[in-house]
Amino acid sequence: MTKNYTRDYWESVLSDIKPEGRHFINGTHRAASSGETFTRIRPMDGKPGAQLARGNAADVDAAVASARAAFESGVWRKKEPLEKKKIMLKWADLIRAHGDELAMLETIDVGKPVMASLGVDVRLCAEGIQFYGEMIDKMYDEIAPTGPNARALVRKVPLGVIGAITPWNYPMIIDAWKLGPAIAAGNSVVLKPAEQSSLSAIRLAELAIEAGLPAGVFNVVTGYGEETGKPLALHMDVDMIAFTGSTEVGKLIMGYAAQSNVKRVALELGGKSPLVVFEDADLDAAAVAAAWGCFYNSGETCHASTRLIVQRSVQDQLIAKIQAVTNSDIALKHPLDPAAQIGALIEEEHMNKVLAMIAAGEKEGARRAFGAERVLSETGGYYVSPGVFVDMTNDMSLARQEIFGPVLAAIPFDTEEEALKIANDTIYGLAGAVFTKDMDRAHRFSEEIHAGTVWINTYDMSNFATPFGGFKQSGFGRDRSVHAIDKYCDYKTIWQQFA
Ligand code: NAD
Repeated sequence: MTKNYTRDYWESVLSDIKPEGRHFINGTHRAASSGETFTRIRPMDGKPGAQLARGNAADVDAAVASARAAFESGVWRKKEPLEKKKIMLKWADLIRAHGDELAMLETIDVGKPVMASLGVDVRLCAEGIQFYGEMIDKMYDEIAPTGPNARALVRKVPLGVIGAITPWNYPMIIDAWKLGPAIAAGNSVVLKPAEQSSLSAIRLAELAIEAGLPAGVFNVVTGYGEETGKPLALHMDVDMIAFTGSTEVGKLIMGYAAQSNVKRVALELGGKSPLVVFEDADLDAAAVAAAWGCFYNSGETCHASTRLIVQRSVQDQLIAKIQAVTNSDIALKHPLDPAAQIGALIEEEHMNKVLAMIAAGEKEGARRAFGAERVLSETGGYYVSPGVFVDMTNDMSLARQEIFGPVLAAIPFDTEEEALKIANDTIYGLAGAVFTKDMDRAHRFSEEIHAGTVWINTYDMSNFATPFGGFKQSGFGRDRSVHAIDKYCDYKTIWQQFA
């Protein structure tokens, strides 16, 4: 029987839920060693949410020691592949079975519509764990060519202890992008979720234990970036940091790796992705893609299509269509309202930053077509309506900075050459798209956009089989797909010489 997801239903889930806010180390909850906690404010209504352990270097040490002990004992990495697979698949099933609860935890923390948390975030988190679970008993090693008197095995071995540091915009999905391949490869993990979004991570760790993952293989330490993320990235017994977050912090992570033990790093960073529309394109399809590509998750998406590079002759027509799609399809409502398509921004401070960037953009001459204003302030939450600025040039701040709010910058162009120049004129290289009916141009153009993913006549379509990540200052290393396993492993040669 399908459930009736009404506002009342979600209100009752909210009133019943008792979020756990302590670290999860070696299979059990643990308060911060300092005894300190911090309070998360709910973005949907500005009310206090959960109390969380305020981690520090001592807590990180304990979590890393637990992860190291689990790795060295072989309790996970030496388990039969079939057994490991069963545990990962059970974990994915448990995530689905606890979907409503996980969705609510995510919404309490980040303010996205609970139906989106359930239908997108929980679903993709479970899919991620399942995808890598299914790979476990299908990975082969190699035998290298040698002369007849030797045999050289080329083994793909886990690195050891992985530190995962994740952001708040899609917490559960991005956690699964790290946890799935890292754990499937046989590593142990210490996850440091963003201080804004720790609840789902703690619950995922509890469910992992319930599924049979041995204690210590997956640990969670909550707290602030400087106080927990930094000691994790500087730790001498961590073999790799898998980081998703801002380019600014990504640069610090590289520095910490260099200052400590030359640990590996993989960085998924920011973006300012171009969506290029030629005058021959299907403008209705382009409008839908541009609106959802930029405004989904209230614009708090690393690969959001925040720069609309549009042939001048169709700019006005396209903007009118984008406004119509936004008004009719992208309902900004309280996150517990099942009809909400987008919800709150992450924090009051972030909302104020977004509004300040908008104001600065207008001062520079950006012309507002619609939206981009604070709304629903009576809820006590932090909401900004989707908005578009037009007739912009690519040197304006709204076209250059990652706003991480629902703000689209429309930049007109006249020639294909100019469009490509504008598209690539950014420090980022995460994603991009081209809309045209001319397939020769579509392929020529998509080859030349310097980004990890380029869509033709669509936006933000993907599945687990496709790698995700960036070029330039959007980082390096790829999440998703079978290739993601590679960064959590390395090759080891075992050479046997015959007598
Ligand atoms: P952020 O960089 O502020 O924080 C990310 C994580 O790093 C958090 O867990 C935070 O606590 C931690 N951190 C902060 N300072 C640290 C330090 N000095 N040492 C170690 N860890 C530290 O990013 P955010 O605000 O949480 O997320 C938004 C950013 O993430 C945007 O720039 C967005 O584009 C990016 N992002 C990228 C992707 C991608 O796949 N490329 C996906 C989602 C988000």
